Amino acid sequence: MGDGRSVVKDLIIIADGAHSRLISEVAGYSSRACRAGRSQYRWLVSMDDVMDEADLRAIYSSDRPGFKAWVDPENDTFWMTYRCRGGKFLNIVVGHDTKLSHDEQGRWNSPVSSAQVLATVEGFHDSLKKMVLMPSEDGIHYHHQYTRPPLTSFVRGRTLAMGDAAHVMKPTHAAGAGISIESAAALEVLFRSVEFRNERAMQQRLQMFDKLRIPRCNLTMLASSGRRWLQMPGMEAKIRRFYSGPLPPPHAPPYSKECREVLFHHDEYQAAEKLLAQDYLPESTPTGA
Ligand SMILES: Cc1cc2nc3c(=O)[nH]c(=O)nc-3n(C[C@H](O)[C@H](O)[C@H](O)COP(=O)(O)OP(=O)(O)OC[C@H]3O[C@@H](n4cnc5c(N)ncnc54)[C@H](O)[C@@H]3O)c2cc1C
Repeated sequence: MGDGRSVVKDLIIIADGAHSRLISEVAGYSSRACRAGRSQYRWLVSMDDVMDEADLRAIYSSDRPGFKAWVDPENDTFWMTYRCRGGKFLNIVVGHDTKLSHDEQGRWNSPVSSAQVLATVEGFHDSLKKMVLMPSEDGIHYHHQYTRPPLTSFVRGRTLAMGDAAHVMKPTHAAGAGISIESAAALEVLFRSVEFRNERAMQQRLQMFDKLRIPRCNLTMLASSGRRWLQMPGMEAKIRRFYSGPLPPPHAPPYSKECREVLFHHDEYQAAEKLLAQDYLPESTPTGA
């Protein structure tokens, strides 16, 4: 511990996010997330305010679920919106190349002025720009995107890492939280009935966690490298170091049926139950049997 004390626990889960200070201990080497050169402005506005504007009402009055997005290809800027909190708020994200200001060098998230956002979204239609000036719950924040090479194991001793601590990714497929929730499902299944004092059983379950999660998490993390991820030189070979399952065709755009099939249709409960049924050793089996 930070104060020099040592403690012994049955299982330690490292889940302290993208800026994890503990992940290097699990990896066995310095494994820090680095800025990826892209950033996002993010803010929330009330749907009531959106619907008060006739031109925005025309865009958002459809009942169809999902997101609405616009691209300024000249400036490589991406404007994405979707409803949240039961449809009462609109989440707005504007992805763009990082523009650093001097006062936020070491920070990963900082407040930003409407004027700065308006300068970035100059190429978009005036109707959309109205959202920048609407009252927002806690203002507009600037988030950097981060990247880190994939880990070959999420486990060390009785410690395992999950979530952004284990696989920080870019928001290309909006999959960071989803893949972390899959890992939580694996934890639930694998450690539901284990005898924590049984070293052999614990090591077996921790190995199963890696077997299930390294392929899925590293695939999703590498897939977040860019919209045309499978057309990037060497990308398929990098993915194949960890994952042997099906991939979408190289030209399949993000959120296409083929991409969704691979990235989002996975059932981790089913995968973990299947692995447990295959590899399960009765806890009473003596070591070496
Ligand atoms: C702008 C933005 C938009 C996103 N949109 C999406 C999306 O649409 N879909 C999606 O799936 N994902 C999205 N993500 C990614 C998603 O937010 C993350 O993948 C997810 O939050 C990771 O969860 P986590 O629990 O691993 O980490 P975090 O959510 O970062 O949680 C880590 C927690 O650990 C705490 N912590 C850190 N250090 C310590 C310590 N020493 N002691 C105790 N606590 C500590 C932190 O305070 C924090 O609460 C988005 C991310 C950003 C930045």
